[in-house]
Amino acid sequence: MNDDEARRHGRVITDDNVGPLLVGMARGIAQGLSVTIRHFISTFRDSWRGVPGTSAGAEPFTQHPRDEGLFTVSYPEARLAVPENFRYLPVLLFDDDTNKIRCTSCGICAKVCPPQCIWIVRTSGPDGKPIPEPAAFTIDASICMSCGYCAEYCPFDAIKMDHRYELATTERKQTLLHEKESLLVPVSYYAKLHPTDFAAEEAERLAKEQKDREKATA
Ligand code: SF4
Ligand code: SF4
Repeated sequence: MNDDEARRHGRVITDDNVGPLLVGMARGIAQGLSVTIRHFISTFRDSWRGVPGTSAGAEPFTQHPRDEGLFTVSYPEARLAVPENFRYLPVLLFDDDTNKIRCTSCGICAKVCPPQCIWIVRTSGPDGKPIPEPAAFTIDASICMSCGYCAEYCPFDAIKMDHRYELATTERKQTLLHEKESLLVPVSYYAKLHPTDFAAEEAERLAKEQKDREKATA
């Protein structure tokens, strides 16, 4: 674009176009500020109305991108809810009714874990034969990269990704070695965190049981 064309398109500031340019800039700044002021006022309006998340002890607050106001929460008294598929560290599931741990210590999760931070010791019976449950199950949380592969590959839906993320500690050796006892959570806990995945897994499990029953009676 030569100088004449640039002048015609208003890309060069001259005495002729400086006025309209300044007016355009002022209009843009005013429009931007009006958006900021609108959100500022509606944030206080939400606080006065007691919208959840603005007060201490409220349930985790979910903010839709189109929501007006409330662009911050008073952490740690209030928290933003994490998405259902959020993942941090793995946990092991046990059945609510029977207390049975789902894990069979098959070792697949340990094999697929990219940084190799899972260690499993299988239980042995008095005769030395293996029993399909873990005697020990350790995850080094200082190494875990939250990839979720362990949960993806577990054939027994025994290991799942947790939402808890406030696990900061001043000691990085023993505290971050998560042992079986601290990894165990009931299935109902997982169902609450991941209702969509849980429903799909339950439907699949029930369908498989039905198929097995039909095969047995055929
Ligand atoms: S958590 Fe799953 S994959 Fe890992 S050892 Fe237990 S049953 Fe196998
Ligand atoms: S989330 Fe990834 S890194 Fe962490 S234990 Fe599971 S497989 Fe390993």
